[in-house]
Amino acid sequence: MKVTEHIQQANGKPLFSIEIIPPAKGTDINELLGSIEPMLELKPAFIDVTFHREEYFDKQMPDGTIQQMSTRKRPGTVGICASILHKFGVDPVPHVLCGGFTKDDTEDFLIDLNYLGIDNVLALRGDAAKPYNTFKPKNGGHSYANQLVGQIKDMNVGKYLHEEAEYLNASDFCIGVAAYPEKHFEADTLEFDFDNLKRKVDAGADYVVTQMFFDNQKYFDFVNKCRQNGINIPIIPGLKILATKKQLDILPKIFYLNLPADLRKAVENCENDKAAKQVGIEWCVQQCRELVEFGVPSLHFYTMSKSDTTMAVAKQLF
Ligand code: FAD
Repeated sequence: MKVTEHIQQANGKPLFSIEIIPPAKGTDINELLGSIEPMLELKPAFIDVTFHREEYFDKQMPDGTIQQMSTRKRPGTVGICASILHKFGVDPVPHVLCGGFTKDDTEDFLIDLNYLGIDNVLALRGDAAKPYNTFKPKNGGHSYANQLVGQIKDMNVGKYLHEEAEYLNASDFCIGVAAYPEKHFEADTLEFDFDNLKRKVDAGADYVVTQMFFDNQKYFDFVNKCRQNGINIPIIPGLKILATKKQLDILPKIFYLNLPADLRKAVENCENDKAAKQVGIEWCVQQCRELVEFGVPSLHFYTMSKSDTTMAVAKQLF
């Protein structure tokens, strides 16, 4: 079922949904599935599975020369999605990136998802490949997520890259895109970034998932601005539960967000991570209560494939 159909069927009641990350290469999938299992009790409407592109590194060869190699540390998104759908009967949402994909790679990837009966995708540009700082499309691949949305929309009407004929099956993907209530780090202004979201919606996005935020006012302002500007698709808030003292430094650096002074102070005053985790849980419960009051379509938790904090929060709400 599509994410938008789940939202419609819930009839105004917020859904519970989660995002997981594939395990590091070489790990057994059962550990990952085992971490999802406790959360099934809360009936997640859908489970997002992140995609991790290639990274580049220099390797010294036997003849002493240096060659650039690439590796993917967390492959497996498609396989994990298939397992979630067929083992748990829950709708997976694979993340699909521009980065590291030619348009043909994208088409093949989407064909695999279609064969597996997967109804949803989250269309993203992705970041620059490590260790580089600038995003570069791969051999004519997409530069921005709105272009990727366009390709998926084309497949949804049976328009493939090299063929356009009646015998080709059209896919029917429900397409999500990302948005940033506190601005994407590359955009000079919120206005510019907002215009980008409009481009993605105009290209055919069906719903939005936000970057994590810890100050609900940022989300409320963002949603209100979207509504005033004719963006009327569901905007799902992404939620992260702060769980260690170190995250006070890490989260703002990685995700370009601000932590409210009250939260920062409460965590700084904690003696250890156990106490910090408790503060993080209580903060998130309070955030969720306000978001439910506001009428959000789903409470979407960035779990990092760990269930304990998400369960501690969600059990107080669902
Ligand atoms: P875009 O919407 O393409 O925007 C990227 C930047 O380009 C923005 O600053 C935008 O304002 C600017 N821009 C857009 N169009 C133009 C234009 N025409 N001219 C100039 N500038 C333009 N990353 C992963 O690698 N794997 C994941 O699984 C993953 N999942 C995510 C899930 C969510 C919910 C979110 C919020 C992020 C996720 N990310 C993931 C991170 C994401 O890939 C990065 O934030 C990336 O830098 C931007 O992706 P995007 O789809 O928002 O890009």
